[in-house]
Amino acid sequence: MVESLGDKVTDLKEGDIVIPTFLGECQECENCLSRKTNLCLKYPVSASGLMPDDTSRMTVKGKKLYHTFSCSTWSEYMVVDTNYVVKLDPSISLPHASFISCGFSTGFGGAWKEAQVEKGSTVAILGLGAVGLGAIEGARIQGATKIIGIDTNERKRIKGKAFGMTDFINPNEYDKSISELVKELTGGLGVDYCFECTGVPPLVNEALQATKMGKGETIVIGAGSDPTIQINLLPLLFGGNLRGSVFGGLKAKTDFPIVVEKCKNKEFQLDELLTHEVLLEDIDKAFELLKQPDCVKVLIKL
Ligand SMILES: [Zn+2]
Repeated sequence: MVESLGDKVTDLKEGDIVIPTFLGECQECENCLSRKTNLCLKYPVSASGLMPDDTSRMTVKGKKLYHTFSCSTWSEYMVVDTNYVVKLDPSISLPHASFISCGFSTGFGGAWKEAQVEKGSTVAILGLGAVGLGAIEGARIQGATKIIGIDTNERKRIKGKAFGMTDFINPNEYDKSISELVKELTGGLGVDYCFECTGVPPLVNEALQATKMGKGETIVIGAGSDPTIQINLLPLLFGGNLRGSVFGGLKAKTDFPIVVEKCKNKEFQLDELLTHEVLLEDIDKAFELLKQPDCVKVLIKL
C-alpha cells in the first residue's frame, strides 16, 4: 500500500495497492517499442541496488540499505521508483498478488508472451517450482495438447496436474537422459517448446535436445548461479532455437496488468502455490522451508 508520495508522482495516491516489479516499461525506448523484448532501456533491471539517480533512500540504524532489484520487499516499508510499481485493483487477493510479481508470472509469460505457444503444441517443462508451474498454466491456456512436467520431486506430480500437466517424468526413476525420456513420450520427435526453469547448466542442454529437430524452441527462464553452460552444437546447427528471457517476456505496463486481471478473476490455481506462511521476523525459517519437498511458495506476512 502506498504510504506517501514524492512531489512529482502523479499516477498514484496514498492508500493505493501496488505491486513492485523489478523491470519498468517507459513505452518509448527502442526496446519498449519492439515486440521482441521486454527489457526497457530507460527503466532496466537494476542490480546496482540504487535508485535510478544512483542514490539509496533507505537506512537502518544509520547504515545505508540497498534497493535490491528496485524492490527490496522484505521490509515493512520500502522506497521505490514509481516506474517500478503497478497499481492493483484492491479487491485482488493479496497473497495471490504476491505470487505474481515474479516466479509464476515469469513461467506464464514464458509460454504466453515469449514462446507464444500455439494450439496443439507439445511442451516440456524442466523444474516444477513456481516458474515451471506458471509455464504449465501458460501452455495450457495457449492450447498445448501435451504438457510434460519434469521434476525429481515426486510431489510435483500432483502439483503439475493441478495446473494442466498431462505427463510427468521423474528422471530419478530412469537410467535415461531427460531428452531421451521426452522423446519417448513424443513419438521420438521431441517437443515443440521446452522451458528450462531450473537454471542448472547441464539441463539447458538437455532441454535443447528434447525439442524437435529443425524448429524446436528452448526458452531458458530459470535463474542459475553458474555463468557458463555447455551446449551441443548439432541441435543448434539443425535449426534448434535457444534463447532466454527475463520475467517471461512480460512488459510491466502492457502485459503484466493482463496477468493481474487473470489473478483477480481466479483464472490461476494460485492456492496450489501457497504451502507455507511465516511472519516477517521469522524470514530465516522461510529459507529452510524452501528446502522441504512439499514447499512451493512461502508467504511472508508483514
Ligand atoms: Zn523503455
